Amino acid sequence: MDELRELYQQLILDHNKSPRNFHVMDEPCESTEGYNPLCGDKLTLYVKIEDDVVADISFVGSGCAISKASASIMTEEIKGKPVDEAKVIFENFRDMITTGKVNKEELGKLEVLSGVYKFPSRVKCAILSWHTLKNILDNESGSVASTE
Ligand code: ZN
Repeated sequence: MDELRELYQQLILDHNKSPRNFHVMDEPCESTEGYNPLCGDKLTLYVKIEDDVVADISFVGSGCAISKASASIMTEEIKGKPVDEAKVIFENFRDMITTGKVNKEELGKLEVLSGVYKFPSRVKCAILSWHTLKNILDNESGSVASTE
């Protein structure tokens, strides 16, 4: 019970209740959908990249508290970061979520999700938005935004 309480700490509950950057992005941007069939989490992520910097990022979707809070905190932490740095943060976040190893310097507020690694069934919830982001960042290199 204590571990579960630790997992759903205040910040996660808060981000689940009022997610940040939770809207469809109108301006030209990249968007990709992510789906976690194990839990039913669904999200669409919008990313606007300018001069190799994540100029804007937002999402919409539905899912469990962990998936929503993770996406919300991710958008806060990634907004304004160079694409290369965002990729490093992704690697650190994946490490943390699968092993519990926390790189405080890189992860900042994302540390609140470090307890998730103790719950293997929740790891996919927490990392869904990140994999969706990674898809966009990896496809971005040199390609022109699709209008589809
Ligand atoms: Zn979930």
